[in-house]
Amino acid sequence: MSDAYLELVNSGITKTLATKLGLPRPAHLRRTDPSAVDTPLVPGRTLVIGEGPDTDAIARVLLGWDLDVHRNAPEGKVGAVVVVLTDLTSPEQASQRVRALGSVLRSLAPGGRVVTVSRAAGPEDEPAVAAVRHGVDGLLRSVAKELRAGATGNGVVLGETVSPDAPSAVGALRFLLSARSAFVDGQFVRVSTPDGAAPADWTRPLEGRVAVVTGAARGIGAEIARVLHRDGAQVLGVDVPAAGESLATVMNEVGGIALQLDITADDAAERIIERARARYGRIDVVVHNAGITRDKLLANMKPEQWDAVVAVNIEAQLRMNDVFLAADGLAPDGLRLVSLASTSGIAGNRGQTNYGFSKAAVIGMTRSLAGRVAGAGTANAVAPGFIETEMTARIPTLTRQVARRLNSLQQGGQPVDVAEAIAFLASPQAGGINGEVLRVCGQNMVGQ
Ligand code: NAD
Repeated sequence: MSDAYLELVNSGITKTLATKLGLPRPAHLRRTDPSAVDTPLVPGRTLVIGEGPDTDAIARVLLGWDLDVHRNAPEGKVGAVVVVLTDLTSPEQASQRVRALGSVLRSLAPGGRVVTVSRAAGPEDEPAVAAVRHGVDGLLRSVAKELRAGATGNGVVLGETVSPDAPSAVGALRFLLSARSAFVDGQFVRVSTPDGAAPADWTRPLEGRVAVVTGAARGIGAEIARVLHRDGAQVLGVDVPAAGESLATVMNEVGGIALQLDITADDAAERIIERARARYGRIDVVVHNAGITRDKLLANMKPEQWDAVVAVNIEAQLRMNDVFLAADGLAPDGLRLVSLASTSGIAGNRGQTNYGFSKAAVIGMTRSLAGRVAGAGTANAVAPGFIETEMTARIPTLTRQVARRLNSLQQGGQPVDVAEAIAFLASPQAGGINGEVLRVCGQNMVGQ
């Protein structure tokens, strides 16, 4: 699905015209190019703002990735700015670092990154400590709205027992700096435990892992299968028999196995486990992607429209997770569950009471499961905003045009953007991230 407006405002005479008229000018986003082995992690120099041992530790991590790291604003364009705020204990201490950030924003390269690293505010904190820690929330979200040319701003938030060079702190920082997070903007990735491990090869973190993807025949699910495969995983794709042909095409492409199955069947999880055990002997990752919409104003909604959405989007997941988690020896290194929520489940959406309910239910389920799997695995969700797929292509043209522009990046995301976030949450370097809902929405102007 393409966005003709984005192409128009980025080429020839229409680009000049759009600039003169002050029209929104969405930029081409910096995305991972699988054919280019040497894609740089950031588009230029990296500035680290901060003082003390945490800042030193982060600078060492960045140097370890061969980045051109500076501790003072360099001349020329800056590809990324990492602002370390973990040591602040009162709001007045923020001002120097924030001013240092402000002074380089004009030099941020297209597709550049601002990443804050801070500590989670908790009820046990002194008021001044909690104030500055929570202040980062409003600071970062506002900075992200001021960035231009496809640059994004996001934050890593560390739990009390997590050091800035813990595997998942490093993993989250790398994800947010990289092209993999193209459509993640104005968000925080919370690292709650020191769990997780750096992969042997950052380009293939899922080597040796087996991943199940539901709804893998098209759209976001097909892209999840491709990205997990690119990252080294073996994939078992599931979709309804009616989508069997496209499922086979996608699975051939990624060398995976296709399983034609309606996930609302009572024995869906048992059949998936049977196929996975027979072929690979294990399942490490389950991505609950299959989902449907049956949009209607609640006043006009038929019971079957409500029931169908709830059955596919949440009830099937609940039933399947119970079976996956009870299966002996299925995931020797712990099961990684990732579910598709939606910004409609966070902010609500007119005509989508059934869908909004089901996607908010996914968030509730994820948080509960996180407690159940803690220490052995993780359960997280990704909440996409407007993504260019067949699902959103059905929205009437004018509504679609408006919906696309209602985020800081002024465009819809691509299925690959959602897939990248899921692959990150399924990876060993995200083992300390549990019970989170990561929005992939370009900082959509809805909800939190
Ligand atoms: P899509 O309609 O293009 O693809 C969904 C896939 O799920 C299809 O291949 C379909 O056959 C399969 N499926 C549906 N019911 C199934 C069942 N009972 N059993 C097995 N497979 C089934 O949708 P998409 O846009 O790629 O969305 C994928 C996920 O992302 C969904 O959960 C959706 O709610 C979520 N999401 C999408 C957007 C967006 O903007 N496209 C935004 C937020 C969330």
